[in-house]
Amino acid sequence: MLPLSAGLVADATPLQTTIVVKYERERQVALRAVTQAAELCIAVQNETAQIRSVEKGDRSPVTVADFGSQALICRALNEAFPDDCIVAEEDSRTLREPQGSGLLDQVVRYVQLAHPMATSDDVCQWIDRGDRRVANRFWALDPIDGTKGFLRREQYAIALALIVNGAVEVAILGCPALPMSLDDTTNSVGVVFVAQRGRGALTAHLGQDEYHPIHVTGPDDHSHLRLVQSVESSHGDASLQQTVARQVGISEPPLTLDSQAKYGTVARGDAALYLRFPSPGHPNYREKIWDHAAGALIVEEAGGRVTDMHGVPLNLSSDYQMKVNRGVIVSNGLLHAGVLAACRQQA
Ligand code: AMP
Ligand code: MG
Repeated sequence: MLPLSAGLVADATPLQTTIVVKYERERQVALRAVTQAAELCIAVQNETAQIRSVEKGDRSPVTVADFGSQALICRALNEAFPDDCIVAEEDSRTLREPQGSGLLDQVVRYVQLAHPMATSDDVCQWIDRGDRRVANRFWALDPIDGTKGFLRREQYAIALALIVNGAVEVAILGCPALPMSLDDTTNSVGVVFVAQRGRGALTAHLGQDEYHPIHVTGPDDHSHLRLVQSVESSHGDASLQQTVARQVGISEPPLTLDSQAKYGTVARGDAALYLRFPSPGHPNYREKIWDHAAGALIVEEAGGRVTDMHGVPLNLSSDYQMKVNRGVIVSNGLLHAGVLAACRQQA
């Protein structure tokens, strides 16, 4: 094996040279799993007029689709990479409690669409493969990021990232309700974002194979000089976010989207800045790695920059919570220094 350059390895034999792209199998398995999970989420929305949600211990909602998506993705990762740890948002406790009664049967029914022989024990075991243990190499998974958006039938994402030695190497973000561009007036929705470290970021229609590279906004793109932030006012500090955005020349009202779809919009140049400052109502909240890992690599590989509000790189590998980081700044790169200066001024 001869190392060619970062990410490429040549397997040289006398007769032929095969170029093996690093983490290519991981990308393929992860993409297939996210696509399958997205199909499950779409099926739940299509077949259910009023989607039932159960409140978890942290008072956030969880649905049949969150559990089904996690079961499918953990099953696929476990089969392909049995030694890998998985840090995922859900666990099967709620399904086994009285408040989850009936929910487990529904989850099993949806998982059986892809795996007809799956039992309820299989499904719970697959979900619990995501046991939040970090390691040198592990996957970070949010089976439905933006469950509130999913329930409102607005934006949500299935987010999966491979983290090796502290760095995100592969990222997949499935956004079943997102149009190809926010300026797109057709009703065609369903997008996937894919990134591999050092190899750029791509997008395609969900479930299709025609990928094209994406880039953050450039210096002359004034029409997309926009801020994007969460729909949920309790997940950030909307007033401070808009003050800071104004200080770097953004005057348009912010776009609001649920989930890491926000990262996707910055990566493909629909917006120039995504700000997520600590909510004054939840000063002790710590961001979770599954809410940022996939999106961060996609934006960086599209030419953007991601740090916390003090300019510190996101620590996505020490724990499932980002204990040392406060707030998140996701920019086209050009705006980043100005945003950090504005944050220092506001502090
Ligand atoms: P978004 O749709 O961008 O608001 O992100 C949804 C995610 O916000 C959920 O997956 C939660 O993990 C996370 N979340 C919940 N409470 C808070 C909070 N107080 N501050 C920041 N994020 C939060
Ligand atoms: Mg989430």
